[in-house]
Amino acid sequence: MDAEAASSRSLATPLRGAIRLCRQAWHHTARAALDIALPTLCVACREPVAGEGLCPACWSSLSFIAEPFCPRLGIPFVYDPGPGLLSMQAIADPPAYQRARAAVRYDEIARTLVHALKYHDRTDLAPSMGRWMARAGRELLEDADLLVPVPILLLHVIEAVVQAYIFGMLALVYIASGMQAHEQTHGEGG
Ligand SMILES: [Zn+2]
Repeated sequence: MDAEAASSRSLATPLRGAIRLCRQAWHHTARAALDIALPTLCVACREPVAGEGLCPACWSSLSFIAEPFCPRLGIPFVYDPGPGLLSMQAIADPPAYQRARAAVRYDEIARTLVHALKYHDRTDLAPSMGRWMARAGRELLEDADLLVPVPILLLHVIEAVVQAYIFGMLALVYIASGMQAHEQTHGEGG
């Protein structure tokens, strides 16, 4: 019995190896056929591209943000004004947040990438874009206790609620002042 079992095991091992090789060959062939039938296109210019994401021309057009930049807004400086100095925009109109960072300038190619990820299910772009953001925000991420994704829709809802509240308050103020004027007129008349 032991000899039979050992013999069947020794046959099963090469058979498993052969099946695995066949599977790999099938995957390679299917992938090659798919690449010929449906070549991967550059997200930005729609030219066929080897690999995923961007073609070399669009990739080299991406404008990655590096120092010097405004320590508050994260926008790049044309020249280095010295450590800790804020941009004119940050001084004139300070934002609600303390520090923000961006990986690339939001130009046409960057916008196409963001829209492809957000609206066209190109989740394959997420790993590389995530790495860019991690690199750009390294200094902030080191101090962070928690990472919280904020859906843009939620921001729009909050903005709409705040606006509705402000408009409601304004309406109440106008109604109250109108009632006061009415009472004064009637009071004077009576
Ligand atoms: Zn391209």
